Amino acid sequence: MKKITLIVPCYNEETCLPVFDVEISKIVEQMSEYTFEILYIDDGSRDKTLETMRQICERRAYARYLSFSRNFGKEAAMYAGFSNATGDYVAVMDADLQDPPALLPEMVAILEKGEYDSVATRRVSREGEPPIRSFFARMFYKLINKISDADIVDGARDYRLMKREMVDVIVAMGEQNRFSKGIFGWIGFRTYWYAFENVERAAGETKWSFWKLLKYSIDGIISFSQVPLNIASWMGMLCTGFSLLAIIFIVVRRLLFGDAVQGWASNMCVIIFLGGLQLFCLGVMGQYIGKTYAETKKRPHYIVGECSDEQIKKIG
Ligand code: UDP
Ligand code: MG
Repeated sequence: MKKITLIVPCYNEETCLPVFDVEISKIVEQMSEYTFEILYIDDGSRDKTLETMRQICERRAYARYLSFSRNFGKEAAMYAGFSNATGDYVAVMDADLQDPPALLPEMVAILEKGEYDSVATRRVSREGEPPIRSFFARMFYKLINKISDADIVDGARDYRLMKREMVDVIVAMGEQNRFSKGIFGWIGFRTYWYAFENVERAAGETKWSFWKLLKYSIDGIISFSQVPLNIASWMGMLCTGFSLLAIIFIVVRRLLFGDAVQGWASNMCVIIFLGGLQLFCLGVMGQYIGKTYAETKKRPHYIVGECSDEQIKKIG
């Protein structure tokens, strides 16, 4: 019998978890030709999430949990899930039921046909989301696909069922600055895209503020593209070319018409503009150096404070 692992990252999800448990138990019952492993990851929640997890694991033989020593973020939670998953098929599923468990039987059926290595999901609508957030999300997908080879589909979710081979590759990619949507696309494999209408959160509220998302998208771009670094050199060349032309203009004007001391204000503008440009480029380089620094330290992605069984890797 094949085993399906579902990784459920949870951060302050005490209201969602009981609902999730009920919904997922229906699917487990329905798909009786498979064994299940539901791996709950508590990402350092401050509410009763961990307690709820313990109770669920006592009741359900297929459930396991691990709890981080603090909040490490959803990316770390997914990495911990992939590292500890034992299934033949593995999927990440949000605790808020925005990744509908009801899609699972169909996703498994597609993989079983053998034509694909993974079934990924994407939202075709963004109802219930603030318009400004949708706008920036769209811009981000356009931009990152232009300047990197990560191949990210607009509206793609982390909800994706994968074969073992793919999961092993993801775990082997031990980079610190994890951006899973990019990693999934970068490693390739044959992927089937499953489209579905957006579902609103079952309970509780989103953990992503606008600024957290903005930072996440900048991290994503820097992890998968070196184009921002090239922009700095292009801007440098452009400025040099322009200033050469300006110098020629000034010399010729001086020789032909003499010179009057003028233009202090315009001079200052140019100096401040160039100073700003240089600082901006330094900042871009700093971003990359900072990421490199984090990579060289090779700190673990997560630390487990408590878990359901001895097989779980405490640090990884
Ligand atoms: N999550 C997490 N750690 C965090 C933030 C979120 O594990 O630091 C989990 C959260 O519990 C949920 C999933 O990641 O299961 C997606 O988060 P959320 O629903 O808040 O994001 P949205 O659906 O609004 O993008
Ligand atoms: Mg959600």
